[in-house]
Amino acid sequence: MTADTITAADIRINARWLIPIEPAGTVLEHYAVIIQGDRLAAVIPQEQADRSFRTRETVDLPNHVVMPGLINMHGHAAMSLFRGMADDLPLMTWLNDHIWPAEGRFISEQFIADGTQLAMAEMLRTGTTTFSDMYFFPEIAAQMAHDTGIRAQVCFPLLDFPTPWGAGPEEYLSKGADFIDSWKNDCYIMPAIGPHAPYTVSDGPMIEAVRLSEKTGAAIQIHLHETAFEVAEATEKLGQRPTARLADLGLLSPETQCVHMTQIDAGDISLL
Ligand SMILES: [Zn+2]
Repeated sequence: MTADTITAADIRINARWLIPIEPAGTVLEHYAVIIQGDRLAAVIPQEQADRSFRTRETVDLPNHVVMPGLINMHGHAAMSLFRGMADDLPLMTWLNDHIWPAEGRFISEQFIADGTQLAMAEMLRTGTTTFSDMYFFPEIAAQMAHDTGIRAQVCFPLLDFPTPWGAGPEEYLSKGADFIDSWKNDCYIMPAIGPHAPYTVSDGPMIEAVRLSEKTGAAIQIHLHETAFEVAEATEKLGQRPTARLADLGLLSPETQCVHMTQIDAGDISLL
């Protein structure tokens, strides 16, 4: 485009600072972001924008940093309603004695709708525009995210035991396959598979999760090596570290996201 051409666009954002993230370490000053429809039409110096674009709406941000939205790689959005509950206890005590009983008692479609909406409002207010979720009634969370216009990877839960969302692995996998089918073409939602953790999912359902991922292309997200206790207990009971077990089961594919990983050794790293 030459300097003489004036192009019409929808929105112009004038940013005091603009951090494009790529190239790394770049901070641009007095830049404008031009938006046309649902696309970024240009990211250019404000003087150049004056000459090149006429927009319907201008947003001046004279004291702000403008950057792409943050991505929250792991969470359980509706658990915003359990915030503060027994949160100073070790993981297994927190789960066994507090969270799992509370989930059995309180989780419902309405709880998921309310808790996910609260979490999304907090995320958007603080700059997160994409999040990963792993919780019960994923079809409700996906609908909430879609309606809000926030991007989300929504993992359906897979566990050995019954929860308010299903009676056991067979039901989770069958509902999960339907869930992936319903949302696979959505522009905001990436449906995914959420085997909870090595200590809550036995080999059979793990293998089924791998098959479902291979068949649908859906990602897998799993809590792995979250605590020293998890690794020690598995090594004692099964004779191998959880990462090695998941590798044997075929679960460590390029589609798999391992979250936490606070306890890893050189062997784990080479497997991963
Ligand atoms: Zn988690």
